[in-house]
Amino acid sequence: MKRIAILGSTGSIGRSTLSVAESFSDRFQIVTLAAGRNLELAFEQARRWRPRLISVAAASDAEMLGSRLKSAAVMETQVVCGPTGNLRVATYPEVDFVVSAIVGVAGLEATYEAVRAGKTVGLANKECLVAAGELITAAARERARPLLPIDSEHNAVHQCLRGGRIEEVRRIWLTASGGPFLHTPKAKFAGITVEQALNHPTWKMGNRITVDSATLMNKGFEVIEACRLFNLAPEQVKVIVHPQSTIHSLVEFVDGSILAQLSVTDMRLPILYALSYPERVPSELNFSLGDLRHLDFCPPDMEKFPCLQLAYEAARAGGGKTVALNAADEVAVEAFLEGRIGFEDIPVVIEEVVGETPTGKLESIKQVLGVDQQARAGARDRVARRSRGRLPAAAITLPQT
Ligand code: MG
Repeated sequence: MKRIAILGSTGSIGRSTLSVAESFSDRFQIVTLAAGRNLELAFEQARRWRPRLISVAAASDAEMLGSRLKSAAVMETQVVCGPTGNLRVATYPEVDFVVSAIVGVAGLEATYEAVRAGKTVGLANKECLVAAGELITAAARERARPLLPIDSEHNAVHQCLRGGRIEEVRRIWLTASGGPFLHTPKAKFAGITVEQALNHPTWKMGNRITVDSATLMNKGFEVIEACRLFNLAPEQVKVIVHPQSTIHSLVEFVDGSILAQLSVTDMRLPILYALSYPERVPSELNFSLGDLRHLDFCPPDMEKFPCLQLAYEAARAGGGKTVALNAADEVAVEAFLEGRIGFEDIPVVIEEVVGETPTGKLESIKQVLGVDQQARAGARDRVARRSRGRLPAAAITLPQT
């Protein structure tokens, strides 16, 4: 029986993890949960799973949840809150495996401490590797604990890497769907609306990651994650556009062999893989190979999607640059979603903020969060300057002709 903690249990990965635990209740036991702000779902999850510990964002929420659980006769669950609550969830002595799925830098410290406490960690939070990857991977290596990627591409690479030794890898290929603007000419990028950017062809995801997929920044983050996770140089991590998203990623070995991983586009599979590693568990998540007709590939257009180029540059520079890349992107994407800047402003804001961020190794999560805060402030400043004089989308009326 593997004893599981979920950081971010009410989010999409958290809910999928619980669904996997439900299907394989003979293998996985839910021991602790960090639920965040969705109190209703936190209550349901505590009632269903009876964790030893559940953490919510605010102290007032913890009090409310605690009394509701008591009225529902759930006595075995202790309610905690805030960052210290998350830390307790992540480092709870009985836990073997921590699923790190809190969105944003809020999950960094708890994930880092889980690794330091000797837990096996399944990573779904991209900030962990983009912003604090050097620290987290070093801590895992020191303790000889595996870091198991849940992101579909890295999970695919992890699976393919079992086909050879890391020294035998020539390069890896991360597949990208290409997003909704793969065939949109660059000249039309200035007019891209929020609605168009949120219309992702293959995956249903949150708003930020969907916009990040449209700019290819999501793929850029994945390049950085792959470098950290598999200890590869940025030159060894290639991106290939593959609109069907059937192959989740590939590993090319020095002899010229390429291994690919194919499966249904369902996050429960990478979650199941990570939770049961190094075993493989029979599941119903079947892929119908007989229905497969086309696998298309093309190189990404770096000029059309400058965010990908920016990510490669940050990956090479390391240190604070990747922290700033993530922070500036989050602020810029939020501003785009609110109609304050245009689609093409996103990479401009990021490039400026990353440019002014010093490189240099970061020694602690505190330092990472310091650079993060500074980059966010810089990005907000630039967004404000760019949005001045820009009419909110709704207020624009076209002249009658
Ligand atoms: Mg991905």
